[in-house]
Amino acid sequence: MVPVASFRDVVIFSFLKMDNLNCLSTHLWEKPRSFKQGGKTLLLRQCVRCGRDFALGFGGENWLPIYLGTFKVDALGKEARERWLSEKCPGMRLPDDDVDRGIVRR
Ligand SMILES: [Zn+2]
Repeated sequence: MVPVASFRDVVIFSFLKMDNLNCLSTHLWEKPRSFKQGGKTLLLRQCVRCGRDFALGFGGENWLPIYLGTFKVDALGKEARERWLSEKCPGMRLPDDDVDRGIVRR
């Protein structure tokens, strides 16, 4: 009998390996965690360097940039999403990221 936890780790690992977006691999990820919202189970992960959050399971097969609120997860708007997916890890937290998250207005 295979323990459930190790099976799940294998699943998570295969998700991570599915990243074909090289930019995402430049981030330094914390261990992914699951989050239930609207009947879906999302997998969340955050970069320890830039603090950007991404989720898997929002629709589609790729990690999407998100804003992680206290009780809910929001996918970022198109412009921010495309930027976060096409940029390498900035290596630090950027004030402009809060604009992308919709917390701060320009
Ligand atoms: Zn990063």
